[in-house]
Amino acid sequence: MLIKNQIYEAVITDYTAEGQGVAHIEGCAVFIPNAIAGERVRVKIEKAQKTWAAGKLTEILEKSPHRLNRECPVAKLCGGCDFWHMDYDEESRLKAQRVRSCLNRMAGEDLPQVPILAAPTCYGYRNKAQYPVSQKKGKAYAGFFRAGTHDVVENARCRILPEETDRVKDLVIDYVNQYRVTVYDEASHTGLLRHIYVRRGAVSGQILVCLVCNGRKLPRAEELIRRLNTIPGFTTLVLSVNTKKGNTILGDEFITLHGPGYIEDTLCGLTFRLSPRSFYQVNHHQAQRLYREAISLAGITKEDLVLDLYCGVGTITLAMASAAGKVIGVEVIPQAVEDAKDNAKRNRIENAEFFCGDAGQAALELERQGIRPDVVVVDPPRKGLNGDTIQALARMAPRRIVYVSCDPATLARDVALLKETGYVLNAAKAADLFPRCAHVETVVLLSKGEIDSKKVRVEFSLEGMDMSGFQKDATYGQIKERVLEQTGLKVSSLYIAQIKQKHGIIERENYNKAKSEDARQPKCPPDKERAIEEALRHFGMIER
Ligand code: SAH
Repeated sequence: MLIKNQIYEAVITDYTAEGQGVAHIEGCAVFIPNAIAGERVRVKIEKAQKTWAAGKLTEILEKSPHRLNRECPVAKLCGGCDFWHMDYDEESRLKAQRVRSCLNRMAGEDLPQVPILAAPTCYGYRNKAQYPVSQKKGKAYAGFFRAGTHDVVENARCRILPEETDRVKDLVIDYVNQYRVTVYDEASHTGLLRHIYVRRGAVSGQILVCLVCNGRKLPRAEELIRRLNTIPGFTTLVLSVNTKKGNTILGDEFITLHGPGYIEDTLCGLTFRLSPRSFYQVNHHQAQRLYREAISLAGITKEDLVLDLYCGVGTITLAMASAAGKVIGVEVIPQAVEDAKDNAKRNRIENAEFFCGDAGQAALELERQGIRPDVVVVDPPRKGLNGDTIQALARMAPRRIVYVSCDPATLARDVALLKETGYVLNAAKAADLFPRCAHVETVVLLSKGEIDSKKVRVEFSLEGMDMSGFQKDATYGQIKERVLEQTGLKVSSLYIAQIKQKHGIIERENYNKAKSEDARQPKCPPDKERAIEEALRHFGMIER
């Protein structure tokens, strides 16, 4: 075990998901913020556990050619960005590498590389900001939280935001200080203003200002509106009532104080209505590139029924509508569904339908009604797909699944599960929607029954299956890898399933034969059977 407070020398070899440098010292993984791969550094151990430690960079002995002097003066303190200490080449390389490594390690892929749609600019790209408000010496100020704390770091000019957004923040703060509007204090749960939320349409230039308040009334609101009207593009002022304790930013109630309560913006040639709660990608240019990639991977034809799960305000759904026979969007937030329906109308799209509900439950319900989409697009939040959704996808068996993801780790986990149900991964691309920040988006294409049309189509039913059980045993990918390693043989999921069934491992998985009556199932030949059995023994799934 490494010793706390001791200084060690190390070479940075990799990055964590949060963008910290990783070094291995005496067999222990050490996480070091602000370190760059390839650098030789001195590190002071701040926390030591058996297999990992956290350290602080104390000296750079060999500097990476990718190291930069931080351009943002508060970058070291502010928890908003992660990468101002390196050039953008290194940042985009590490993001692509992260996606590749997740898919290879967790989804049994062997991708030599994953391409990335790198961003053309790191400046002014974010179309939304949520500034927490705080005060010192009786004066209000706004900024962003310091990493891991609720201390607000003031930043006069945030590099990744457009200038207008910072101007709104400054104007609101001036108003707050002049009219002695109280500032919310977490500890005592008193004071009014909690957050200043600004959303600006990248194309329309329209600005929505939403003040999150611990109360329902804003003093001197007319004066604030008068001042906001001096900012070009200011369109609407909304008060979000959040009287609850805790970290959730927005409250459940929205009171429009000026304008329509939403703004509009154009994306992929369509107009969208955006309310404060609606999800809308923060990087307009890169979002368009990501969606175009997703749509092209979907390979939609005029006959296709397309299901878009986690559809938000219908951005991807509506962008696909003209190519498809019909599109169906599912989204859990009612306000976003209202926006999506309105967006269909304002773009005169008649072949789109939207449902409000949990993606998994809605998909199961659609499946029960006999709806069989040809293509499904999913774009879930970071936690990825739930068991219901995977089950519904397996049963609906669309020709293609396009998975847009904001977390490569949960994406890889879900890809592994979908592969178990007979899908193959055909393409993967990373997209950088958050330059200078550690997040990365990915789009992948999974397909079934397309690669070799002669191949017998096999359906896996996951009915009654305990999804958590997946974690206990080796995945099909891992079994294939083991077989290949040991014998050089390539085995299909079908063969593995047959051998698992023979040994009674997958009774509960209810593995079915192909639904069509004339389907013939190829039978696992004896040499492959022996190889698979060896792998099952190796993974402790059958007795030795
Ligand atoms: N595809 C859209 C939105 C993606 S963000 C776009 O690119 O604009 C993910 C969306 O999933 C959010 O709108 C969120 O409200 C929604 N969501 C979160 N959990 C959900 C669930 N369980 N079921 C359906 N939608 C959900």
